[in-house]
Amino acid sequence: MSFVKGIELIKMAEKANTSVIAFNCLDYNMVASVIAAAERVKKPAMIMLLPEHATKNKVTTFEAFGAMVKAMAEKATVPIALHLDHCYDEEEIKRAIDAGFTSVMYDASQYDLDENIRRTKAVVWYAHSKGVMVEAELGSVGLAQNNDNEKADFYTKPEAVKKFTEATDVDALAIAIGNAHGDYPFPPKLDLERLDEINAITDVPLVLHGGSGIPEDQLAEAFSRGINKFNYGTDTMHCYNDAVLAYHKAHEPAGSNDMIGEAEFVQKAITDFLAKKLDLVKL
Ligand SMILES: [Zn+2]
Repeated sequence: MSFVKGIELIKMAEKANTSVIAFNCLDYNMVASVIAAAERVKKPAMIMLLPEHATKNKVTTFEAFGAMVKAMAEKATVPIALHLDHCYDEEEIKRAIDAGFTSVMYDASQYDLDENIRRTKAVVWYAHSKGVMVEAELGSVGLAQNNDNEKADFYTKPEAVKKFTEATDVDALAIAIGNAHGDYPFPPKLDLERLDEINAITDVPLVLHGGSGIPEDQLAEAFSRGINKFNYGTDTMHCYNDAVLAYHKAHEPAGSNDMIGEAEFVQKAITDFLAKKLDLVKL
């Protein structure tokens, strides 16, 4: 039985002054690969789902994904948790919680501080009544392709952190310190002094999004200076896509029906790739 609550992994990371890695997943191939990689290096891991994959993209449903991860995690030899990434809709949060997600991110960072507090507080109240932890966002983690990671206006303002965390009672806080989602055109430079300032202001565990492409020396620094959850997605998707293309290229001209070996091939590629990333975690 290794299906654990998200908060347990974050507390474990906080205690060890490191970060748990949370992996964006779409399907069985990705979940199986994350668990296999975590087992290989004997580290815990979080599996994340973006709500739009269940609500719009027809990749899965909250119920199917929740049941799949729970069943697979229960057989895992390392602790595995299930988290809902960037959710903007209170009703979707409730559906995910009903489907077994023990950790959710409610992102109201597009609103001003007071409205972000008002909305987040209501979600925290509901989630806590169900024993589920909530991650919120302050500042704005934008898109790397727009160079948002270099826009200081997007960064989390340390003076807002105390008010926000005390008013909302959130369990984890995603911050913007020079990170952004997607592929960075140039390697980012995290504002580690800002991270220190924020970490000194609050005891709430901090979360770093936009993890693909951040140099590993900066990640090691961030993990030792208050980042206890690290979101990793884009690179995994590239690895998945490359593996699918490589498999089919290798199986030409056998034709498009040669699907049977694809899953095993893809899972091996993703597992090898993620096991290296998990080595960054000092747990
Ligand atoms: Zn994110």
